Amino acid sequence: MMTLKYWMNRTGEINIHENDDSTFVSSDKEDSDSEESFSSHSSSPIPITNLDNLKINNSECIKKVSNLIKLGKAKNIILLLGAGISTSAGIPDFRSPKTGLYNNLKKFNLPFPELIFELNYFKKNPKPFWELAKEIYPGKYFPTPTHYFLNLLNKKNLLKRIFTQNIDTLENLTGLNENLIIESHGSFSKSHCLKCKKEIKREKILKDGLRKGKVIKCDYFINENENENENENEKNQQKCNGLVKPDIVFFGENLPDRFFKFLPDLKECDLLIIIGTSLQVQPFASLIDKVPLNCPRLLINREPVGPFTQIKLNEKRDMYYKGDSDKGIYELSEELGWKDELNELIESGNKKLKIRYEESESENTIKNKLDTTLKEGFEDETEEADELEEAMKKQLNL
Ligand SMILES: [Zn+2]
Repeated sequence: MMTLKYWMNRTGEINIHENDDSTFVSSDKEDSDSEESFSSHSSSPIPITNLDNLKINNSECIKKVSNLIKLGKAKNIILLLGAGISTSAGIPDFRSPKTGLYNNLKKFNLPFPELIFELNYFKKNPKPFWELAKEIYPGKYFPTPTHYFLNLLNKKNLLKRIFTQNIDTLENLTGLNENLIIESHGSFSKSHCLKCKKEIKREKILKDGLRKGKVIKCDYFINENENENENENEKNQQKCNGLVKPDIVFFGENLPDRFFKFLPDLKECDLLIIIGTSLQVQPFASLIDKVPLNCPRLLINREPVGPFTQIKLNEKRDMYYKGDSDKGIYELSEELGWKDELNELIESGNKKLKIRYEESESENTIKNKLDTTLKEGFEDETEEADELEEAMKKQLNL
């Protein structure tokens, strides 16, 4: 696997930001040298000196992109997505002092919030990560109109690939084929023990980690395979007890193989849409320079970032829509005549998810009830436990 200096260097940045709880990401300028192993282009944010000349005309920009699609000039659309597309889903921003989650994490005295995703910090103090995981746990939130728009693009056979930095799996929950989604910073779908490297069962992560915020430790036995026929020995065996971590990419870790595998797709891209990202985390930010030089690029974001801070009036290639992602996506859908289809997708998708969440909640309630009943250990309640077990099975078969 390709090793990225940036991610390795990131760990070393802790000291720089020790007393700074707000500007961790602003250091990317310093990182531009260290990303050379990945990219020969510099995609670090260009300092904003004067925005007077910046071309912002939302409606013109939407028309331009809509025309490209209508005229069949954009058939291999690629999207680069960041946290901004999930804020309207209600996913709390752990960096924002306005959220309860921020206050919740305050008790851990983190010098800066992003430390939660530092591998070395996690090894010493995994509790803040699990506390955060419980709050942003996939399965609590509904995709936004922007997420459903991705699915709509695919239905129109126009979607080449999505590269997302988000770990909330909302792209997936729209029903979009998972092959089209590159979770560039990993996801919760698998977890491994940091010590013995074994994969940990998802149920364990779900039950104790994501639902209760507990620190998960590996309970595989050390040398388990060498003594598999000796039940007696099992009593003397020690559990691994290593820390378990979901396969989310922490600072200091490599990106998933899939990220590199699908990079060549960018060469075929004929319209790049970048939404809700500050383009400050490498190597993700450098993807904007991997598309052909004549490929149109649209940024939908509250603020101009990267090369979009310098769009001039005669600019032909780059377009900037200033505003929230859902607003931009709705305007584009309207211009394309797709608004009704988008609304239908949102409605039917959320309906299905609501049923799924309710089922998973009631299944969880039944399981808890069953545990309690069994623990009480009264004989006359065995019948009730059986009934509950039956009900549980029924739920699972649905
Ligand atoms: Zn282990």
